[in-house]
Amino acid sequence: MIVARTVAELRAALRDRRDGAIGLVPTMGALHEGHATLLRAARQADDTVVMSIFVNPTQFNEQSDLAAYPRTEEADLALAQAAGVDVVFAPDAAEVYPPGFATTVSVTGPIAETLEGAERGRAHFDGVATVVTKLLLAALPDHAYFGAKDAQQVAVIRRLVADLGLPVSLVVCPTSRDDDGLARSSRNTRLSPDERARALAIPRALQEMTDAAAAGIVDAEALRARGTATLEASGIRPEYVALVDPETFAPVAEIAGPVLVAIAARVGATRLIDNTVIGGA
Ligand code: AMP
Repeated sequence: MIVARTVAELRAALRDRRDGAIGLVPTMGALHEGHATLLRAARQADDTVVMSIFVNPTQFNEQSDLAAYPRTEEADLALAQAAGVDVVFAPDAAEVYPPGFATTVSVTGPIAETLEGAERGRAHFDGVATVVTKLLLAALPDHAYFGAKDAQQVAVIRRLVADLGLPVSLVVCPTSRDDDGLARSSRNTRLSPDERARALAIPRALQEMTDAAAAGIVDAEALRARGTATLEASGIRPEYVALVDPETFAPVAEIAGPVLVAIAARVGATRLIDNTVIGGA
């Protein structure tokens, strides 16, 4: 396994591998089983698997969150090796943002401005869009792998790839969950045992809303109220419980097709997000 610290090293590592398919799995490290599902998908489909590790400062809206973000490079490299990764791209911030850096890729409209975009501020998805564009241009992969857990991030990246005509196919992998239903996240390590138990209200709320929709409740407000009540019963006041069109992120009033149900909530000091799609055919 090659560890490339610069774009030049990454390109050199990939130069002789472009006859086969290249898959890129962008991550911020602190790898867990959720990341491993993306790596497995890439390993199955691609001849060369590239994984990036970069804790992107520009997408953090809270300095304390950036400072507390777990950094576990040694363990990450071991996991990557075990998962059959061929090339790890782990640049430092100066490699990605050299002095004088002044370009931003900014997706506009509800996809980037609602929910996470509203709660975390404009700069969050600008940071995501800019760094993902840079990673895609650095590696020029055939496939890039993302998790459905970050559904809005996927929608933002889908938009920029289409709008900029980037020659890559996106592969979206289902959310990987712990046995008790909690979506795997690098931030879960920050939860105390009590907080972790209370956080289970998030997947429970999603499941209850799924069941209620399957039982014929089509009114989005009624479903939202149900999910909110489940969270509040565990002492969690959500930032949002949203029912939106999965592609445009426009709010929906009635379930008449696939609807993305997205939740963001702080449990203690830790901010968690999760989602599911209801009302599919
Ligand atoms: P992160 O390191 O949190 O930026 O995540 C890197 C990639 O892994 C993103 O595409 C995430 O959506 C994806 N990912 C993170 N957690 C999960 C999970 N529990 N299930 C599936 N994909 C995930």
